[in-house]
Amino acid sequence: MSQEILKVEKLHVTVQDKEILKGLDLEIGDGETHVIMGPNGAGKSTLGNTLMGKEEYNVTSGSITFMNEDLLEMSTDKRAKMGLFMTFQNPIEIPGVRLSEFVRSSCEANGNKMSLWNFKKAASEQMKVLNMDPSYLDRELNVGFSGGEKKKAEIFQLLMLKPKLAILDETDSGLDVDAVRIVSEGVKAYQEQTHGSLLIITHSTKILESLNVDKVHVLYGGKIVAEGDSSLIGDINENGFEKYMKE
Ligand code: ADP
Ligand code: MG
Repeated sequence: MSQEILKVEKLHVTVQDKEILKGLDLEIGDGETHVIMGPNGAGKSTLGNTLMGKEEYNVTSGSITFMNEDLLEMSTDKRAKMGLFMTFQNPIEIPGVRLSEFVRSSCEANGNKMSLWNFKKAASEQMKVLNMDPSYLDRELNVGFSGGEKKKAEIFQLLMLKPKLAILDETDSGLDVDAVRIVSEGVKAYQEQTHGSLLIITHSTKILESLNVDKVHVLYGGKIVAEGDSSLIGDINENGFEKYMKE
Protein backbone atom coordinates (compact mmCIF):
# COMPACT_ATOMS: atom_id res chain seq x y z
CA MET A 1 0.00 0.00 0.00
CA SER A 2 1.10 3.56 -0.71
CA GLN A 3 1.55 5.87 2.24
CA GLU A 4 -1.66 5.86 4.23
CA ILE A 5 -3.89 8.90 4.43
CA LEU A 6 -6.52 7.52 6.81
CA LYS A 7 -6.25 4.94 9.55
CA VAL A 8 -9.25 4.01 11.67
CA GLU A 9 -8.61 1.61 14.55
CA LYS A 10 -11.13 -0.19 16.76
CA LEU A 11 -13.62 2.65 16.36
CA HIS A 12 -16.70 2.64 18.58
CA VAL A 13 -19.37 5.27 17.91
CA THR A 14 -22.68 5.87 19.66
CA VAL A 15 -25.57 7.97 18.42
CA GLN A 16 -28.22 8.94 20.96
CA ASP A 17 -26.80 6.36 23.40
CA LYS A 18 -27.05 3.56 20.85
CA GLU A 19 -23.78 1.96 19.76
CA ILE A 20 -23.64 1.92 15.95
CA LEU A 21 -19.98 1.28 15.17
CA LYS A 22 -18.45 -1.52 17.24
CA GLY A 23 -14.76 -1.82 16.64
CA LEU A 24 -14.37 -0.71 13.03
CA ASP A 25 -10.95 -0.87 11.35
CA LEU A 26 -10.19 0.82 8.03
CA GLU A 27 -7.04 1.93 6.24
CA ILE A 28 -6.87 4.00 3.07
CA GLY A 29 -3.63 4.64 1.20
CA ASP A 30 -2.86 8.01 -0.36
CA GLY A 31 -4.47 8.23 -3.81
CA GLU A 32 -6.49 5.05 -3.36
CA THR A 33 -10.17 4.52 -4.07
CA HIS A 34 -12.09 2.41 -1.55
CA VAL A 35 -15.72 1.30 -1.62
CA ILE A 36 -17.94 0.56 1.37
CA MET A 37 -20.98 -1.61 0.91
CA GLY A 38 -23.42 -2.79 3.53
CA PRO A 39 -27.14 -3.20 4.16
CA ASN A 40 -29.31 -0.19 5.02
CA GLY A 41 -28.77 0.90 8.61
CA ALA A 42 -25.38 -0.80 8.87
CA GLY A 43 -23.68 2.46 9.85
CA LYS A 44 -22.09 3.60 6.58
CA SER A 45 -23.29 7.20 6.87
CA THR A 46 -22.44 7.10 10.58
CA LEU A 47 -18.83 6.36 9.64
CA GLY A 48 -18.79 9.27 7.18
CA ASN A 49 -20.42 11.67 9.63
CA THR A 50 -17.99 10.61 12.37
CA LEU A 51 -15.02 11.24 10.07
CA MET A 52 -16.40 14.71 9.32
CA GLY A 53 -16.84 15.39 13.05
CA LYS A 54 -20.61 15.88 13.18
CA GLU A 55 -21.54 16.48 16.78
CA GLU A 56 -24.27 13.85 17.26
CA TYR A 57 -21.71 11.11 16.62
CA ASN A 58 -19.83 10.26 19.80
CA VAL A 59 -16.60 8.36 19.57
CA THR A 60 -16.43 6.30 22.77
CA SER A 61 -13.17 4.52 21.95
CA GLY A 62 -10.71 3.83 19.16
CA SER A 63 -8.62 6.18 17.05
CA ILE A 64 -8.65 7.96 13.70
CA THR A 65 -5.47 9.25 12.08
CA PHE A 66 -5.74 11.50 9.02
CA MET A 67 -2.54 12.57 7.28
CA ASN A 68 -0.59 11.39 10.32
CA GLU A 69 -2.55 13.62 12.68
CA ASP A 70 -5.16 12.77 15.30
CA LEU A 71 -8.44 13.56 13.56
CA LEU A 72 -10.48 13.29 16.75
CA GLU A 73 -8.64 16.31 18.16
CA MET A 74 -9.72 18.49 15.23
CA SER A 75 -12.80 20.70 14.85
CA THR A 76 -15.04 20.11 11.82
CA ASP A 77 -13.59 23.27 10.28
CA LYS A 78 -10.04 22.07 10.73
CA ARG A 79 -10.95 18.72 9.16
CA ALA A 80 -12.26 20.47 6.05
CA LYS A 81 -9.19 22.69 5.91
CA MET A 82 -6.98 19.61 6.15
CA GLY A 83 -8.69 18.28 3.03
CA LEU A 84 -11.57 16.10 4.17
CA PHE A 85 -14.80 16.39 2.18
CA MET A 86 -18.12 14.56 2.16
CA THR A 87 -21.17 14.62 -0.08
CA PHE A 88 -24.46 14.01 1.66
CA GLN A 89 -27.35 11.68 0.96
CA ASN A 90 -29.68 14.68 1.22
CA PRO A 91 -27.87 17.89 0.23
CA ILE A 92 -29.23 20.97 2.04
CA GLU A 93 -30.78 23.99 0.34
CA ILE A 94 -29.42 27.41 1.26
CA PRO A 95 -31.80 30.11 0.03
CA GLY A 96 -30.11 33.46 -0.55
CA VAL A 97 -26.66 32.00 -1.19
CA ARG A 98 -25.63 31.48 -4.79
CA LEU A 99 -23.73 28.36 -5.81
CA SER A 100 -20.81 30.56 -6.92
CA GLU A 101 -20.65 32.39 -3.56
CA PHE A 102 -20.86 29.14 -1.63
CA VAL A 103 -18.11 27.36 -3.57
CA ARG A 104 -15.83 30.40 -3.79
CA SER A 105 -15.99 31.01 -0.05
CA SER A 106 -15.42 27.29 0.64
CA CYS A 107 -12.31 27.42 -1.57
CA GLU A 108 -11.16 30.54 0.25
CA ALA A 109 -11.79 28.97 3.68
CA ASN A 110 -9.61 26.06 2.56
CA GLY A 111 -6.77 28.39 1.65
CA ASN A 112 -7.40 28.75 -2.06
CA LYS A 113 -8.28 32.41 -2.54
CA MET A 114 -9.11 33.25 -6.14
CA SER A 115 -10.02 36.45 -7.93
CA LEU A 116 -13.56 36.42 -9.28
CA TRP A 117 -12.18 36.17 -12.79
CA ASN A 118 -9.98 33.16 -11.96
CA PHE A 119 -12.79 31.53 -10.03
CA LYS A 120 -15.20 31.86 -12.95
CA LYS A 121 -12.62 30.53 -15.37
CA ALA A 122 -11.86 27.46 -13.21
CA ALA A 123 -15.56 26.96 -12.49
CA SER A 124 -16.60 27.01 -16.12
CA GLU A 125 -13.91 24.42 -16.96
CA GLN A 126 -15.14 22.05 -14.25
CA MET A 127 -18.78 22.62 -15.17
CA LYS A 128 -17.98 21.45 -18.68
CA VAL A 129 -16.88 18.08 -17.27
CA LEU A 130 -20.28 17.79 -15.57
CA ASN A 131 -22.29 19.08 -18.50
CA MET A 132 -23.65 21.89 -16.28
CA ASP A 133 -24.69 25.21 -17.69
CA PRO A 134 -22.58 28.09 -16.19
CA SER A 135 -25.85 29.86 -15.33
CA TYR A 136 -26.11 27.46 -12.36
CA LEU A 137 -23.39 29.50 -10.66
CA ASP A 138 -25.96 32.27 -10.13
CA ARG A 139 -28.65 30.02 -8.71
CA GLU A 140 -29.31 29.70 -4.98
CA LEU A 141 -27.64 26.62 -3.54
CA ASN A 142 -29.78 23.57 -4.29
CA VAL A 143 -33.00 25.63 -4.30
CA GLY A 144 -35.27 24.05 -6.87
CA PHE A 145 -32.44 21.81 -8.10
CA SER A 146 -33.52 18.37 -9.30
CA GLY A 147 -31.97 15.33 -7.62
CA GLY A 148 -29.46 15.02 -10.44
CA GLU A 149 -28.59 18.74 -10.36
CA LYS A 150 -27.94 18.59 -6.59
CA LYS A 151 -25.53 15.69 -7.07
CA LYS A 152 -23.77 17.48 -9.93
CA ALA A 153 -23.46 20.58 -7.75
CA GLU A 154 -21.74 18.42 -5.11
CA ILE A 155 -19.33 16.88 -7.59
CA PHE A 156 -18.67 20.41 -8.85
CA GLN A 157 -17.64 21.35 -5.28
CA LEU A 158 -15.42 18.27 -5.19
CA LEU A 159 -13.66 19.37 -8.39
CA MET A 160 -13.23 22.95 -7.18
CA LEU A 161 -12.15 22.14 -3.61
CA LYS A 162 -9.78 19.31 -4.57
CA PRO A 163 -9.84 17.61 -1.13
CA LYS A 164 -7.24 15.05 -0.07
CA LEU A 165 -9.94 12.52 0.86
CA ALA A 166 -13.50 12.65 -0.43
CA ILE A 167 -16.30 10.59 1.06
CA LEU A 168 -19.17 10.10 -1.37
CA ASP A 169 -22.29 8.94 0.48
CA GLU A 170 -24.58 7.25 -2.04
CA THR A 171 -24.00 10.05 -4.51
CA ASP A 172 -25.39 7.80 -7.23
CA SER A 173 -28.63 6.71 -5.59
CA GLY A 174 -31.86 7.81 -7.20
CA LEU A 175 -30.18 9.11 -10.35
CA ASP A 176 -31.06 8.20 -13.91
CA VAL A 177 -28.41 6.45 -16.02
CA ASP A 178 -27.22 9.62 -17.74
CA ALA A 179 -26.82 11.47 -14.44
CA VAL A 180 -24.92 8.52 -12.92
CA ARG A 181 -22.57 8.53 -15.91
CA ILE A 182 -21.91 12.26 -15.60
CA VAL A 183 -21.36 12.03 -11.83
CA SER A 184 -19.00 9.11 -12.45
CA GLU A 185 -17.07 11.14 -15.04
CA GLY A 186 -16.80 13.97 -12.54
CA VAL A 187 -15.40 11.61 -9.90
CA LYS A 188 -12.98 10.23 -12.45
CA ALA A 189 -11.86 13.77 -13.30
CA TYR A 190 -11.22 14.32 -9.56
CA GLN A 191 -9.05 11.16 -9.51
CA GLU A 192 -7.12 12.29 -12.57
CA GLN A 193 -6.75 15.97 -11.70
CA THR A 194 -5.85 15.65 -8.02
CA HIS A 195 -4.80 12.03 -7.41
CA GLY A 196 -6.86 12.36 -4.24
CA SER A 197 -8.27 9.49 -2.22
CA LEU A 198 -11.89 8.35 -2.27
CA LEU A 199 -14.20 6.49 0.08
CA ILE A 200 -17.30 5.66 -1.93
CA ILE A 201 -20.43 4.44 -0.16
CA THR A 202 -22.68 2.83 -2.73
CA HIS A 203 -25.12 0.03 -3.50
CA SER A 204 -24.66 0.08 -7.24
CA THR A 205 -21.82 -0.77 -9.55
CA LYS A 206 -22.71 1.81 -12.20
CA ILE A 207 -20.73 4.66 -10.67
CA LEU A 208 -17.70 2.39 -10.27
CA GLU A 209 -17.48 1.17 -13.86
CA SER A 210 -15.06 3.79 -15.11
CA LEU A 211 -13.19 4.14 -11.80
CA ASN A 212 -10.17 2.24 -10.62
CA VAL A 213 -11.20 0.63 -7.31
CA ASP A 214 -8.39 -0.50 -4.98
CA LYS A 215 -10.39 -2.16 -2.24
CA VAL A 216 -13.94 -3.03 -1.22
CA HIS A 217 -15.09 -3.30 2.41
CA VAL A 218 -18.33 -4.81 3.70
CA LEU A 219 -19.79 -3.10 6.77
CA TYR A 220 -22.13 -5.13 8.91
CA GLY A 221 -22.90 -5.23 12.63
CA GLY A 222 -20.81 -2.13 13.22
CA LYS A 223 -17.62 -3.65 11.84
CA ILE A 224 -15.86 -4.40 8.59
CA VAL A 225 -16.66 -8.09 8.10
CA ALA A 226 -15.09 -8.66 4.69
CA GLU A 227 -12.55 -7.00 2.43
CA GLY A 228 -11.46 -7.70 -1.09
CA ASP A 229 -10.93 -6.39 -4.58
CA SER A 230 -13.69 -5.16 -6.89
CA SER A 231 -14.87 -8.72 -7.55
CA LEU A 232 -16.55 -8.51 -4.13
CA ILE A 233 -19.04 -6.00 -5.59
CA GLY A 234 -20.25 -8.45 -8.21
CA ASP A 235 -20.48 -11.21 -5.60
CA ILE A 236 -22.64 -9.05 -3.30
CA ASN A 237 -24.89 -7.91 -6.11
CA GLU A 238 -25.47 -11.51 -7.10
CA ASN A 239 -25.70 -13.18 -3.71
CA GLY A 240 -26.60 -10.39 -1.29
CA PHE A 241 -25.13 -9.73 2.15
CA GLU A 242 -26.45 -12.91 3.81
CA LYS A 243 -23.15 -14.76 3.76
CA TYR A 244 -21.46 -11.88 5.64
CA MET A 245 -24.30 -11.52 8.13
CA LYS A 246 -23.74 -15.05 9.42
CA GLU A 247 -20.13 -14.38 10.30
P1 ADP B 1 -26.44 3.39 6.60
O1 ADP B 1 -25.87 4.67 6.08
O2 ADP B 1 -25.49 2.25 6.56
O3 ADP B 1 -27.75 3.04 5.96
P2 ADP B 1 -26.68 4.92 9.05
O4 ADP B 1 -25.29 5.17 9.48
O5 ADP B 1 -27.43 6.03 8.43
O6 ADP B 1 -26.75 3.59 8.16
O7 ADP B 1 -27.52 4.47 10.33
C1 ADP B 1 -27.11 3.45 11.22
C2 ADP B 1 -28.00 3.48 12.46
O8 ADP B 1 -27.72 4.66 13.21
C3 ADP B 1 -29.47 3.50 12.16
O9 ADP B 1 -30.12 2.71 13.12
C4 ADP B 1 -29.82 4.97 12.29
O10 ADP B 1 -31.16 5.14 12.67
C5 ADP B 1 -28.88 5.42 13.38
N1 ADP B 1 -28.52 6.84 13.21
C6 ADP B 1 -27.61 7.35 12.35
N2 ADP B 1 -27.54 8.69 12.45
C7 ADP B 1 -28.43 9.05 13.39
C8 ADP B 1 -28.82 10.29 13.96
N3 ADP B 1 -28.26 11.45 13.57
N4 ADP B 1 -29.77 10.27 14.91
C9 ADP B 1 -30.34 9.12 15.32
N5 ADP B 1 -30.01 7.91 14.83
C10 ADP B 1 -29.07 7.86 13.88
MG1 MG C 1 -26.47 5.99 4.67
